[in-house]
Amino acid sequence: MEHKGDFMEERTLKWKRVLLKMGGEAFSGKKNFGISFSRLSWISEEIRKVKELGVCLGIMVGGGNIWRGEKAAKEGIDRATGDYMGMLATIINALALQDVLEKRGIVTRVQTSIEMREIAEPYIRRRALRHLEKGRVVIFAGGTGNPYFTTDTAAALRALEIGAEVILKATKVAGIYSADPFKDEKAVKFERIGYTEFLNRRLKVMDSTAVTLCMDNNLPVVVFDLNEPDSIKRIAVGERVGTIVQD
Ligand code: UDP
Repeated sequence: MEHKGDFMEERTLKWKRVLLKMGGEAFSGKKNFGISFSRLSWISEEIRKVKELGVCLGIMVGGGNIWRGEKAAKEGIDRATGDYMGMLATIINALALQDVLEKRGIVTRVQTSIEMREIAEPYIRRRALRHLEKGRVVIFAGGTGNPYFTTDTAAALRALEIGAEVILKATKVAGIYSADPFKDEKAVKFERIGYTEFLNRRLKVMDSTAVTLCMDNNLPVVVFDLNEPDSIKRIAVGERVGTIVQD
């Protein structure tokens, strides 16, 4: 019986192992700065629904709601220092997310690419894989651990390392558009877009380093609106939601 159940579940899921990328804006909600716990609580329920389906889930968190190295550099702070501050910001978000997820009974582990052993595990690939196999959600923090990168690139890197079949990139719009849908009413949404076209159009939704890494390794990315209820769950079972970046 148990085997039959597992088989059924495998068949109904389109993506069994996913890397969810939650940027800083997912944490701040409408405020655009800091952390909105009511917002996080809502997101954690979305995550719980996906876990319930049996999806194996890693989450890469951003930090733009607290600090961005590039912006700080414009104010005169050394870019690398600003970037390290940004990486620390992602760890603050990771701890907040861990707290709300665990309050919903979801077992999590935070792994950081900059060691902070008192509060989280260091990133160890084989250990992350073991957690995933045990059904734990692994929250990846600290980006790549290197300045001049972004958490989108870190998401692509970790997704490849843990054998994720797809990156789910959470945004506040319904997918990828030909232009900014908030500024241009003629902007049209793509159902699907190839990596090269994405790069040629210089679309801003993901940085080119991240997209190139995905392209070189045939890793699809689904860009979707996290504010849409059940969106992650619907993607997991194969519904057409958002825009898929794939050749
Ligand atoms: N950052 C970095 N290296 C990384 C990931 C992040 O230097 O591998 C820094 C960078 O300064 C960035 C900040 O951390 O501005 C926050 O990350 P990101 O901008 O990717 O967050 P998001 O846009 O997803 O909120």
